[in-house]
Amino acid sequence: MALIEVMEMFPTQAECIAYLERLRWQGSPECQQCASIQVGHRNERDTGRIGRWNCHACQSTFKVTHGTVFQGTKIPLQKGFLAISLMAHAKKSLSSCQLARDLGVKQKTCWRIMMALRAEMGKDDVLLQGIVDADETSIGGKGRKDLDKEEGDPRKRGHGTAKDAVFGAVARCGKGVAARIENVKGSTIAGFLKKFVKTEEAALYTDQ
Ligand SMILES: [Zn+2]
Repeated sequence: MALIEVMEMFPTQAECIAYLERLRWQGSPECQQCASIQVGHRNERDTGRIGRWNCHACQSTFKVTHGTVFQGTKIPLQKGFLAISLMAHAKKSLSSCQLARDLGVKQKTCWRIMMALRAEMGKDDVLLQGIVDADETSIGGKGRKDLDKEEGDPRKRGHGTAKDAVFGAVARCGKGVAARIENVKGSTIAGFLKKFVKTEEAALYTDQ
């Protein structure tokens, strides 16, 4: 996602939290201590805080950021998402000083988050799996334009002339999958995403 898209998709802390909750819990939030699903939103009307849940089983309080790089951080999640995007797009490795200037946060805070993110980028992290690039591409044989020209002559479309449609999904952490698919219809691609990409949100970032 481009920076502007991150900013538009996640204009507020509430929207960032809602996104993470969908991504992590897929509609059924569970306690981070005891895994009970007997949980409810905390009444936070007067506190100015958001995103906390109560567990009715073990009485603990938790947030969706529990166990993620954003646990305990004071910086707004939007800036955290922007940090991921900036780090993913940086051609060379990004310095914490540069990122701190770009995001308007303290260098020390930035350094801590970058270290945590780099460590997470090698793992199957739920957040990073959500921030996914997906695109279709084709390999081998002739391009679609060539095939269109040959539309009137089906013999030329035999084995070896048609491109195989390949759909790839690449997580921003660099992990990717690519597989041959029968066609590039929306439904086929949706099926591919469902198989390889953990979240429904991933579909938001495709060009389909
Ligand atoms: Zn619990």
